[in-house]
Amino acid sequence: MDLKDLYRDVILDHNKRPRNFGMLAVPPAHEARGANPLCGDTLRVWVQLDGELVTDVKFEGKGCAISVASASLMTEAAIGHTRAEVQAQFERVHNVFTHHDAPLDPALGKLAALAGVRDFPARVKCASLAWHTLNAALSAADAEQPSATPPTVQTE
Ligand code: ZN
Repeated sequence: MDLKDLYRDVILDHNKRPRNFGMLAVPPAHEARGANPLCGDTLRVWVQLDGELVTDVKFEGKGCAISVASASLMTEAAIGHTRAEVQAQFERVHNVFTHHDAPLDPALGKLAALAGVRDFPARVKCASLAWHTLNAALSAADAEQPSATPPTVQTE
């Protein structure tokens, strides 16, 4: 299967049937919000941790197919992994979005489908939004004092 087919199939599937769509209670979960004003995508991401392990991730949002599918893929990639593994996967995905000619790391697995967005540079922010929002939620978990309002990231 070439990258274009993989991209189309995975994005369509995860947009039609988003995985881990919903909310988690805060606390114990941590929430962050994300917005991509260029496209109008908005996301809320909740992360639940047990020590260094990401035990659950859920998201809600409105946006284009790519933003929803990428958020769905992000939850699958994060749940059940350590924060260090999630960080490594974030960096691989970020590399896909920012280095258009970089070879795809086999460790990306199904996330390689996101590389299809490189053919549509205006959509990269749609695809990266969920990942930046996840990072913000993990950072919120590190805050000593929980903030009354969840952190918000905005793609630039
Ligand atoms: Zn979008």
